[in-house]
Amino acid sequence: MTRSFESINATVFYAYQICKREAWFYYHRVNPPQEHPLLDLGRLVHETSYRRSRKEIFVDQILKIDLFQKELVAEVKRSSRHRKSARLQLAYYLYYLKHEKGLELKGILLFPKERRTEKLELTPELERQIEDLLQEMKQVLRAELPPSPVRIPHCRSCSFLEVCWG
Ligand code: SF4
Repeated sequence: MTRSFESINATVFYAYQICKREAWFYYHRVNPPQEHPLLDLGRLVHETSYRRSRKEIFVDQILKIDLFQKELVAEVKRSSRHRKSARLQLAYYLYYLKHEKGLELKGILLFPKERRTEKLELTPELERQIEDLLQEMKQVLRAELPPSPVRIPHCRSCSFLEVCWG
């Protein structure tokens, strides 16, 4: 199988699991009209919770790895509300590192506000899920127009709220 990640970076990948329209905006570099305060809060949690041990690592402008905790690729999230999306995003990192860099690593999700952690291993099933997702994402993201908005709880904290529902 030929793998092509097509600029599906961490932000696009994570957003896609929550809202395909939001992911389309990020993929096409449409910036939100103004930053939502919750984005700042997210950044603050990021910056303060792991200030001492943090070492953000960019890989090919695709991945933005928050830090390595021992041998684990760690991803920090503000809350576990989008836990499933966070797990898939981390699985995508592990998948990319394995197939593009030849690194077979395990991961860990960190929810510092909730003092919770969750380990993740890239199983064959998870790899297949990532491959199917990437195929699907390419179709949606390459389209000329974004998918229609669908009202979901995340809209309330989304920076495109006004664009979609203003
Ligand atoms: S406001 Fe809602 S529909 Fe629009 S991009 Fe954000 S999450 Fe998606």
